[in-house]
Amino acid sequence: RQAQYAALRSVPAVTLDEVKISLNINAGLLFDLPHLEESGADGIGLFRTELQFMISSTFPRLDQQTRMYKAIFDAAGGKPVVFRTLDVGGDKVLPYFQAVKEENPALGWRAIRMALDRPALFRTQIRALLRGAAGRELRILLPMIADVAELTEAKALIHKELGILKRHGKQEPSKLLIGAMVEVPALLWQLDEVMPLVDFVSVGSNDLLQFMFAADRSNEKVAGRFDNLNKAALRALRFIVLAGKRHDVPITLCGEMAGRPLEAMALIGLGFRSISMAPASVGPVKAMILSLDVGETAEKLLTLLDEDSGDLRDQLKAFAVE
Ligand code: PEP
Ligand code: MG
Repeated sequence: RQAQYAALRSVPAVTLDEVKISLNINAGLLFDLPHLEESGADGIGLFRTELQFMISSTFPRLDQQTRMYKAIFDAAGGKPVVFRTLDVGGDKVLPYFQAVKEENPALGWRAIRMALDRPALFRTQIRALLRGAAGRELRILLPMIADVAELTEAKALIHKELGILKRHGKQEPSKLLIGAMVEVPALLWQLDEVMPLVDFVSVGSNDLLQFMFAADRSNEKVAGRFDNLNKAALRALRFIVLAGKRHDVPITLCGEMAGRPLEAMALIGLGFRSISMAPASVGPVKAMILSLDVGETAEKLLTLLDEDSGDLRDQLKAFAVE
């Protein structure tokens, strides 16, 4: 199997009916970058910047962060990288920063909430990203957006930093793209306001489903109770895809479900044309894509979503086998 997947490395991920699917990897440390070349992925769809903060014993300083981001750009060799701003809190704790224990950390002071309450920390990271990008395309992804106002506020801080960079005569990124993660259910009902404000959207299905089903993603007792391939989940994802189409905003999904071939098949059937996953999943997902007919899959999936069809996973599996 491994050899078979390795042989697909430079084969483009194109379906039988000639739909190109962009396959990207999730990463978090410089250490992960060789996977980009090895997997033959199109880019880094999610770079979790918090990893660098988690392995450090103090807050990484501006120059340390800048060096790190520059090194990531250099190692990516021109392939696109989506840098997600600091997403600590919840299950990811910084021992030197978060002293107060929370009752419901997943619903607590984390990600963009922390960034907006501590703008100096957020602005330092943005400054480092802008400096590290120098002359290259910078994609910034904002985690845990629950309200349009958070997006507007974060964007204003980013543009403030861009202004400072220009005034200091430093080299700007060749292009700046700002995206929002859709992972808090409340955002689903603000997509028509969100889309005009962003250059791209990335669905964080791990958190989105945990919140939709009120089931802690790290609690094994409940995490397995709700299937990702259930109607509510797939309808929500379809809803996001349609909003992206309406506003002509590129949509991608970077949660764990993108890395499982059956789930990836369903996502493509729903209309996703870009997904991001753990590096080891690129081979198996690509093998699935090479034998997929998107037209047929979409038809099947949309019919299943409309009718009273019973267990979707079983039906999708039967369809895949056929
Ligand atoms: C997600 O929530 O789906 C996601 C990709 O981000 P993380 O797993 O880092 O929360
Ligand atoms: Mg998340």
